[in-house]
Amino acid sequence: MSTHAIFRSPPAVNEPIHDYEPGSSARSRLQLRVEQMRNERIEIPLVIGGKDVTTGDLKQAVMPHDKEHVLADVHQGTAEHVQQAVDAAAKAWADWSRWPWEERATVLLRAAELLSGPWRDTLNAATMLGQSKTAHQAEIDAACESIDFMRFNVEFMTRIYEEQPISSRGLWNRMEYRPLEGFVFAVSPFNFTAIAANLTSSPALMGNTVVWKPAGTAMLSAYYLMRLFQEAGLPDGVINLVYGSGATIGDAAIGNPHLAGIHFTGSTPVFNGMWRTVATNMEHYRNYPRIVGETGGKDFIVAHPSADVDALATAIVRGSFEYQGQKCSASSRVYAPSNLWPALKERLQEQIATIKVGDVSDFGNYMGAVIDGASFKTQAAAIEEAKSNGQTEIVAGGGYDDSRGFFVDPTVIETRDPDFRTMREELFGPVVTTYVYDEKRWDDTLDLVDRTAPYGLTGAVFSADRAAAAHAQDRLRYAAGNFYVNDKPTGAVVGQQPFGGARASGTNDKAGSMWNLIRWVSPRSIKETFTPPQDYRYPFMDAEPDSAGT
Ligand code: NAD
Repeated sequence: MSTHAIFRSPPAVNEPIHDYEPGSSARSRLQLRVEQMRNERIEIPLVIGGKDVTTGDLKQAVMPHDKEHVLADVHQGTAEHVQQAVDAAAKAWADWSRWPWEERATVLLRAAELLSGPWRDTLNAATMLGQSKTAHQAEIDAACESIDFMRFNVEFMTRIYEEQPISSRGLWNRMEYRPLEGFVFAVSPFNFTAIAANLTSSPALMGNTVVWKPAGTAMLSAYYLMRLFQEAGLPDGVINLVYGSGATIGDAAIGNPHLAGIHFTGSTPVFNGMWRTVATNMEHYRNYPRIVGETGGKDFIVAHPSADVDALATAIVRGSFEYQGQKCSASSRVYAPSNLWPALKERLQEQIATIKVGDVSDFGNYMGAVIDGASFKTQAAAIEEAKSNGQTEIVAGGGYDDSRGFFVDPTVIETRDPDFRTMREELFGPVVTTYVYDEKRWDDTLDLVDRTAPYGLTGAVFSADRAAAAHAQDRLRYAAGNFYVNDKPTGAVVGQQPFGGARASGTNDKAGSMWNLIRWVSPRSIKETFTPPQDYRYPFMDAEPDSAGT
């Protein structure tokens, strides 16, 4: 294949969000697809080299809000399947890494278009049922954010390619953005279908081939995503889907000498473990692997005494409880000034009392269940700890019940101990802790925000005082990679707020930007001289004229 034009890709725009309001056709279509999916029990294979692979070792994919309800039986892979996937990726690489960029782009743009149309309900329904997202949360994730990644990444790719060196007279310098030599290991979390879409497709777009291990609690949406890529025309072996236990699949993939990169999103301890495994295999690799990981958070909202209480309460409710607080960006610690706390507490109590938690197929519910029994236990333990601690109390919520699904009420803890465990550790559930500070101690409070947790992902300041907001922005420069002023710290949009944090929150390679894509290429500088010199000697070596001037 060759290219005879400098093509321009279609301008990327954010996918409009469907509201699913009562009576709309979008709502009835989605409800129909949810019902169909709920009433079937499918068998899900691995997909290696474009072929479905069954192993006979089955794991059930259940609904978190109805934990006995099995949606699918999913074949689990072993180290042997990882080797098959690496081989398939290598085979596909020979061809795919030479495809012209615009041909690779068309696959992603077609996937985006399919997802915007005929695949929308399927991926949304799978995300609702398998990961317990409401229709709105599934829509902004599985449909809109995935589409945005696919479209915007094409534009970011072309921006990278346009970055070229200068050439002095008589020569041409060029930069070629080669795909990495080897395979990229993509490891996705349960909480965003769009993250799975991006972890796999962004390296693929840049010409790499991928071995993909999705979370064991998001297997259904992973399956449909893989089918979407296939239907969009992704060649066999470019993305290879291997289900299985994290350690089994992870160790086999990371131990492979052809590992060229890791594209991970998930918890900090798992990422640290992967990095250690890379270190122990260092001598075996053909290339130093690129390690990109977006990890945990302990995201904050800090309110200045001048903050608007209604805006603040809304940000806390939306930022802490949407998708059950299972967004890496979810606010889980709040610093409220003493002058505002009585009114803020009242607003939170009023609003939280109206929140409905339950089955996500009932569109009246604002929240579904937490992802699994382990997360349920984590939330329950934190709530009990708060109840029994003399320095803390539960001011809203505090209930939990796993008789049918893993349901945890939206919960606000108030603590007088700024270092209480739930102010420091990620719980990844609908539990937010508030520390009420003396309204005169704004500066000390900013110090506290900065030093209390090891993470640096998202954070928000609420202030009507411009100078105070600017001061917080400066003082908290390293406390958050995504910083918000008078807005909740969740809901980053591709192309608008590139996402990621530093400290224990990851390598901050900013998903949804060219900074992420740059990690999946290994640039080559090419210099061509049009008329090469014919003599090794330089003018300075010529003989000096003698003293007589002859
Ligand atoms: P997790 O760390 O439990 O799992 C993530 C992935 O790693 C899964 O696919 C899992 O199977 C796999 N895994 C587990 N052990 C492994 C091993 N030894 N080797 C290789 N892979 C292994 O995370 P999760 O519960 O799916 O997701 C929640 C976490 O993700 C939270 O900590 C959250 O903050 C974080 N997160 C971060 C971002 C971000 O952008 N910073 C975004 C979403 C989620």
